[in-house]
Amino acid sequence: MIEPFRVYALRFAHREASVRGEHFYGHDPCALDAYPISYYVWLAVSDAHAVLVDAGFTPGTAARRGGRDYLRSPMDTMRALGVDPDRIEHLVLSHLHYDHTGHVADFPRARIVVQEAELAFWTSRHAARPGIAHFVEPADVAHLVEQNFAGQVRQVDGEHEVVPGVTVHRVGGHTPGLQVVRIATAAGHVVLAADASHFYENVERGQPYGVVTFLPAMYDAFDTLATLASEPELVVPGHDPAVLDRFPAVPGLEGLAVRVA
Ligand SMILES: [Zn+2]
Repeated sequence: MIEPFRVYALRFAHREASVRGEHFYGHDPCALDAYPISYYVWLAVSDAHAVLVDAGFTPGTAARRGGRDYLRSPMDTMRALGVDPDRIEHLVLSHLHYDHTGHVADFPRARIVVQEAELAFWTSRHAARPGIAHFVEPADVAHLVEQNFAGQVRQVDGEHEVVPGVTVHRVGGHTPGLQVVRIATAAGHVVLAADASHFYENVERGQPYGVVTFLPAMYDAFDTLATLASEPELVVPGHDPAVLDRFPAVPGLEGLAVRVA
């Protein structure tokens, strides 16, 4: 009997001045229409386990890249939820883009779970291409390499059980080793899509995102999300501001945290 997890989406940053053309694959006749983007990490907790999915970016990275409003650190929002960041035993990284890796060092006790294909890619010759390197913070990748030597990184290949009730599934598409996370809750299986579906529009309309490593895998990922989730409503996109509308806010943390299940 797996004890069901409670799952929260924690929004730490937002970029209002964003348009459709930045986000969707192919020609978009409405490319200049406003399309704001939010940035999240996700927390799964039970009495026995605490798993964090992704590590956001830091205020320093937000300032350097510009245009992003840093709202509140994931660690502060976790504390407000009553979860001590030191309790995090597993930190799952969906992929290594800069907006998912910034606060890894703030969870020094956590075992990091990443797909082997993802870490391999970001230490390969391809990572240094300008149009690809733009998406990572080299210092974040270097930190992961150090943590790997320190024995703190669990590199997995495909499907893997993090703790009973939490599994990761490699889908690729957006990056070579992008993984999604399936979590057993009282409402059924929640699937944290991260960048396998940035927005509801991606998974609900089969509309690929514009940053693509391999387009067929991105389409397959939409199918995988649907298969893994108990209900379509339990697929949680990685960057959609509407996540805050579709799930109830945590009292006192409006705009920052919702309870997914
Ligand atoms: Zn990404």
